[in-house]
Parts: sequence; structure tokens; C-alpha cells
Amino acid sequence: TRIRPSSKRCAVIGGSGFLGRHLVERLVEKGYSVAVFDIAQRYEVPGVTFHQGDLCDKQALLKVLKDVSLVFHCASPSPACDDRNLFWKVNVEGTRIVIRACQEAGVQRLVLTSSASVVFEGTDIKNGKEDLPYAKRPIDYYTETKIQQEKVVLEACSKEKDFLTVAIRPHGIFGPRDPQLVPILVDTARKGKMKFIIGDGANLVDFTYVENVVHGHILAAEHLKPDSPLCGKAYHITNDEPIRF
Ligand code: NAD
Repeated sequence: TRIRPSSKRCAVIGGSGFLGRHLVERLVEKGYSVAVFDIAQRYEVPGVTFHQGDLCDKQALLKVLKDVSLVFHCASPSPACDDRNLFWKVNVEGTRIVIRACQEAGVQRLVLTSSASVVFEGTDIKNGKEDLPYAKRPIDYYTETKIQQEKVVLEACSKEKDFLTVAIRPHGIFGPRDPQLVPILVDTARKGKMKFIIGDGANLVDFTYVENVVHGHILAAEHLKPDSPLCGKAYHITNDEPIRF
């Protein structure tokens, strides 16, 4: 019989990133022991082990996942890079490798950071539910691969294989150390490029505070059990009301 790894041992793939680091810090506060797997190490936290590697490298993943029961996957190339091949390689092929590595290592739960853009067809959505279909015409290459990535993860959910999956779909994330959203807005405004309005000024956009996104991930992980309705499902996550933008 396989010895079950402690349920408080987890790994965060992409743990050096904006969301990943917040997730790591909260997991440590909650008493988890955390291994970070990322192509770059950008900080140190006592009690957290860092493993530098590419998620497309199964052997590198296996070394980190062998005594882990729970994995958070929040790694992605930056949407701004607009490199279709890289998005496919990392988000789709790489995520397949993550799943195989998890299954071989005996990981029992995988929580994916997806994106609300997977259901965005270019027109405002208010009170959109998770039963909205995936976008037929994704807005960019990044979103195209986030759709495939989410499908791959949710389809891998299997009670028989003792491998359960769930996806969390934030839209814009803001909070301390945000590298893109607010700094880019401020920079654009400083350069005087925010003097025009796209649309009629009533476009909707959703932002969620990073700690709420983290909370959603941990809640999903802790409730992901064989008899739970979360198995193989995606969940939108938001603060409350969308912001007029
Ligand atoms: P981020 O760029 O700050 O972090 C991503 C991390 O992934 C980085 O540390 C990077 O080094 C790592 N990474 C990239 N390629 C890798 C690879 N091949 N192997 C291992 N690690 C790799 O991004 P973020 O804002 O923290 O986003 C985290 C997740 O949340 C992503 O999946 C993103 O699609 C999703 N998301 C983000 C937002 C947002 O507004 N920031 C909104 C919706 C969804």
C-alpha cells in the first residue's frame, strides 16, 4: 500500500509570481509546508523550499512532487508576451506534463488558476455563471491556451485514480506587488495616454483583491474531496460588483 503524503504538504507551481507568492505566504501562515517550483526564484520565505525548473520538464517536477499531496498550478507566460508557441508549450503541453507528473508522484489534488477570460466573447458579461460556454473566438492567444489548459485539467479529474481537480477563474487581480495591472495603468496615465474612452464609458471589468483570490484557491483545495461537487469544476471568483471602467 502507498503511504499517503501528509495533506499539509503542498507545491505551488509558479510560486515565484505575483499570485503564487501571495498563495505561498498564506499557505505558510495556515501551517502548510510548501515547495515552490518556478523557472525563477525571486524571494525567500523561511520554511519554503525553492526548486528552479521548467514545468515542461517532468523529471524536474517529479523530484518536487514525490511527497506532496496537493498542487497549485499558477504558472503561465505573461499574457503581454503574445508568443503563441510559448503559450501552447507551457499552458497546454506543459500542463499535460504537470498532470502526468502529479499522477505518477501520487498527488491527490490539483488546483488550477484559470481565467475568467475563457468565457469572454468580447461583449460585457454581468452576473455570468460557470455554465457559460467557452469562448468560440478567444480574445487572444493567451486566452486560447487558458481554455485548453482548463479543459485538460478538469477532464483529468478522476475519483478512480484518486486524482481530483478544480479550476479557479479570476479576472484582473490587484494588490501589493502587482507587477502589471495598476503600475501599467499609472504609467499610461502619466504618459497622458488615458484621455480617451473606448466605448460609451460604461464598459464593465472585474478586479479581485489578491487575498480573495488566494482564499478562493485554498477553500477549493480544502473542499476538494471525492464526494464534493467541486470535482472537475471551474469557479469564477470576484470581490462583489464589477467596476465601471
Ligand atoms: P506572474 O507572471 O506574476 O507569475 C507567473 C509565474 O509563472 C512566474 O513566476 C513565472 O516565472 C512562472 N512560470 C512561467 N513559465 C513557467 C514555466 N515554464 N515553468 C515554471 N514556472 C513558470 O503571473 P500572475 O499574475 O501571478 O498569474 C498567475 C496565474 O493567474 C496565471 O496562470 C495567470 O494566467 C492567472 N491569472 C492572472 C490574472 C492577473 O490579473 N494577474 C488574472 C487571471 C488569471
